[in-house]
Amino acid sequence: MTDAYGRTIDYLRLSVTDLCNRRCSYCMPPEGVCKRDHSEICSLEELAELAAAFVELGVKKIRLTGGEPLVRRGIVSLTERLAALKSVGLEDLCMTTNGILLPEFAASLREAGLDRLNISLDSLRPDRFRTLTRGGELNRVLDGIAAAEAAGFHDLHLNAVLLAGINEDELRDLALLAKDRPWSVRFIERMPLGPAATLSFLPASRVLEAVPELKRVQNAKCKMQDENSVAKYYSAPGWRGTVGLIAPMSACFCERCSRVRLTADGKLKPCLHSSEEYLLRGLRGDALREAILSAIQKKPARHNLSDARPSESARSMNEIGG
Ligand code: SAM
Ligand code: SF4
Repeated sequence: MTDAYGRTIDYLRLSVTDLCNRRCSYCMPPEGVCKRDHSEICSLEELAELAAAFVELGVKKIRLTGGEPLVRRGIVSLTERLAALKSVGLEDLCMTTNGILLPEFAASLREAGLDRLNISLDSLRPDRFRTLTRGGELNRVLDGIAAAEAAGFHDLHLNAVLLAGINEDELRDLALLAKDRPWSVRFIERMPLGPAATLSFLPASRVLEAVPELKRVQNAKCKMQDENSVAKYYSAPGWRGTVGLIAPMSACFCERCSRVRLTADGKLKPCLHSSEEYLLRGLRGDALREAILSAIQKKPARHNLSDARPSESARSMNEIGG
């Protein structure tokens, strides 16, 4: 699929639920989100059918996200169904999770055919982690990371949102997680959306100031850098892993964007930061294919985010999936 600006669209981020077992202060309102009626959310069958239509049209990578994807009942069987799409063109099936439920799910996700895991980890200090996640236990995420490794997910991506005045003194400690492990620690600039719009911005370049030994890794040398990646990767002599910088604010990568998003209620969002959405739920066959192709033609050229101009998306991050 090619959009109106010549970009190939081959990456689908599939949000399987808005619900979450954490309430990160930059993502969710303090009161959490209202549980929607079952009927408002796509069934697993519907999600699998919609995903299959995207793969038929050329999507090669699907990321399961949320909310927290592991709180969606039936997530392993959905993973299994999506993994079966590898016989018809899907190349990469991955998930972004807060990691809490990985001790329970990592092995069965691996068995079901999940290729890769991204785990969110914004702080290594238990007190700070608790405040940031409004009650989350750091140890549970660390247990989740260990469970993921034990299940065979070795090239983990650990994602940290850059939060000025919150985790800015931990950039080096977080980056050093990639020294002895083949992991990629990825720092993401916070985007002004929902509760995050009021938090101060910290540019990704601060990571390079905190870890001056890091040098850019060329694509060919970095096996974790796939074509879809919007991260720039760095490493240092003797390090097993890499540090990735994702800078949607200070170095907009919209001209290379290859992704679209599907919300748990079955709406296609061509751009994370636009309020434009197209209802796919209920469509099948030619009507579904036409709706997808037409929505992709409406993908905007770029976002216009700045601190003065927050995201136009009417949804919060837990509804979109990052
Ligand atoms: N619950 C899962 C998790 O936390 O990994 C998946 C959903 S979460 C919305 C996906 C990613 O979006 C996480 O890595 C999270 O840190 C990131 N995120 C949430 N709000 C953000 C914001 N305003 N700016 C940048 N990244 C954000
Ligand atoms: Fe939940 Fe992920 Fe949002 Fe945190 S970032 S509240 S874990 S959806």
